[in-house]
Amino acid sequence: MYFQVSSIMNIINTQAFVLKKKNSGETSFIVHLFSIDHGKIIVIAKGARKNKSKFHGFFEQFSMLNIHINYKEGRPYHFLNSAEFIEPFWQFKNNPIAVLYASIITEVIYKTQKYYSDSSIYKLLKAVFYEMNDNKISPQYLHWYFFIHFFKINGFGYNLEFCNHCHKKLTNGKISTKNGYLLCSNCSQNINSDLFFNNEILNIFSFMLKNHPKKLLNIKCSEKIRKMTDKLIWNTLKIHFDNLMHLNSIKTLNKMI
Ligand SMILES: [Zn+2]
Repeated sequence: MYFQVSSIMNIINTQAFVLKKKNSGETSFIVHLFSIDHGKIIVIAKGARKNKSKFHGFFEQFSMLNIHINYKEGRPYHFLNSAEFIEPFWQFKNNPIAVLYASIITEVIYKTQKYYSDSSIYKLLKAVFYEMNDNKISPQYLHWYFFIHFFKINGFGYNLEFCNHCHKKLTNGKISTKNGYLLCSNCSQNINSDLFFNNEILNIFSFMLKNHPKKLLNIKCSEKIRKMTDKLIWNTLKIHFDNLMHLNSIKTLNKMI
């Protein structure tokens, strides 16, 4: 829905996830949202910290909302008119492990997405958060799922089949820390990288690329494989985005687990 009020002021209706919020003035919040139609947007929720506010309780991180905002071209902030829950995700907010992994996802979205992004990342996030809330699949696997698809959407998906250098079929090897390419054990012998992968990890990634997150229920892997996979995913983020060298969410997770 989209009503034109004047040539510069519009009321925009969209759905959005809460990425984070900060206090503003005595009673308001500044809320950073990731929306399906407009990418990352910043809104001011006036009076939201008052107990009787119509906005009370809406802006916990990860909540999915239906919002109406007063959108003004060229302004960094917009004013929020109304908000309703589409899905508050109570279940996964009460699972500390899910919160840790979901925080990595929202921190990456916060640091990489811009106004007017493509809706595919929003849809991916929605599918992953619904599964986290369902509480059947490991949140760690779901966060791999998110990033494997996120890499592909951003144009740097892994080529899981062939070595990027000699083009032979891949079974094991290392990821180049220069460009994120997968290299076979022969070609990666002399490269300076500790990002090892094996056939099991390649199979997990390829399964994830082909299937809905619900199917992750069938995946089981050892502690060693889980550590290796976290490392590959987190380092791939660093290779492709300079501003993801230090993620607070990963630091917190390493302290807690
Ligand atoms: Zn090779």
